[in-house]
Amino acid sequence: MSSSTIIAIYIALAAADLGWGILLGLLNRRSVLASQARVPPELAGSVSPEEAEKSRSYTLARMRLSFVQEPVTTAIVVAVAAAGIFGLLDDIVRGLVEGEYWRGALFLGAVAVASGLLSLPFSIYSTFVLEKRFGFNTTTIRTWLVDGLKGSVIATVLGLPLLWLLFVFMNATGSLWWLWAATIFSALSVVLSLLYPLVIAPLFNTFTPLPDGSLAERIRAMAERTGFRMSGVFVMDGSKRSRHSNAYFTGLGKAKRIVLYDTLVDSMDEDEILAVLGHEIGHEKKRHIVKGTVLSIGLSFATFYALSLLARWPELYAAFGFARDGAAYPTKEALLLVFGLVSGPATFFLAPIFSAWSRAHEYEADRFAVEAMDSYPAGVAALSSALIRLNKENASNLWPHPLYSFWYYSHPTLLERLRAIQGDREEGRTALFI
Ligand SMILES: [Zn+2]
Repeated sequence: MSSSTIIAIYIALAAADLGWGILLGLLNRRSVLASQARVPPELAGSVSPEEAEKSRSYTLARMRLSFVQEPVTTAIVVAVAAAGIFGLLDDIVRGLVEGEYWRGALFLGAVAVASGLLSLPFSIYSTFVLEKRFGFNTTTIRTWLVDGLKGSVIATVLGLPLLWLLFVFMNATGSLWWLWAATIFSALSVVLSLLYPLVIAPLFNTFTPLPDGSLAERIRAMAERTGFRMSGVFVMDGSKRSRHSNAYFTGLGKAKRIVLYDTLVDSMDEDEILAVLGHEIGHEKKRHIVKGTVLSIGLSFATFYALSLLARWPELYAAFGFARDGAAYPTKEALLLVFGLVSGPATFFLAPIFSAWSRAHEYEADRFAVEAMDSYPAGVAALSSALIRLNKENASNLWPHPLYSFWYYSHPTLLERLRAIQGDREEGRTALFI
């Protein structure tokens, strides 16, 4: 296959990825417009017409942003790749730095900086215009700048040495280098996920242990009831950046902790908070975290194996501008970059598989949460109202197009979740009494 065929296939895949995304986006937009902000019948009484209107206009505003951002970003990346500009950048870095491994790390670092700059205007617009207009943004310019600075320092301090190490292994271990690289990469990602809640997250936010009181008492009781061991429940000052609210579970082993956004604690009652915690505990007890880790380790082995096959294909390097005097000039950093460019467009059709997998876990965690509450009907009521509240406070789309949510949603839609929770009550629980 010639270099020009390879580039043509790459452009075709990127266009298919973008085109499909836009098509689904347009379907989703039509579904939202057709709703005319009518509250779905199941939510009558729980969602006010004003809240429905906010969900509609916020969803449409976010869509407009992505309808600009996606095509512009794709067009720039594809044009830069097809014009061989990455190859020129490689030449420039080559002239600046001695030492093969550091050169590779610096080249990829420079690409990362360029890609950050490309998304910068969209991120500024999103935070300071769009989110602000809907009353969500609370980030000050200062916080935003400090965040950017800290993020860059962490990426440099962690990223450059890790890339250096990766290159050393890629060169030193012969034809089985991919096996070594995948092993190191997997081990490091587990170590990082252990360190993240303890070392990195506190650089950006303050985590305060949930104060003693009736809520803390009930959480302890729930943890005992479900046999859940953790290092604690922490409240994070999410309101420092945004009024959006969330809760998540992080860390492995003894470092496990549940994190609640202060925005969530402020807006929910105790039952609702407990239901959200029960959901997070459900992810752990049903081993979703472990399954996710195993899947990502499996994927990184597959990825590095694919890389080892691609590495032997000189036309691939030449196609993306890594050539000298007409001959391909293969380097490890070129291989990683090309893989980074191609892997998204080449696998975009796999998205619904991962989405469906994640949604199955969400249903399981919801069911667990309902059963973990003091009583079953109380669990159904608490989780339902917590989910409705989360949806309202984030002005999430109340009318997603079914194909759009099937393809992209990592969580079932609000109505799907409510139906599942309440359906369980009707089918599962009455059966117990028969
Ligand atoms: Zn979840």
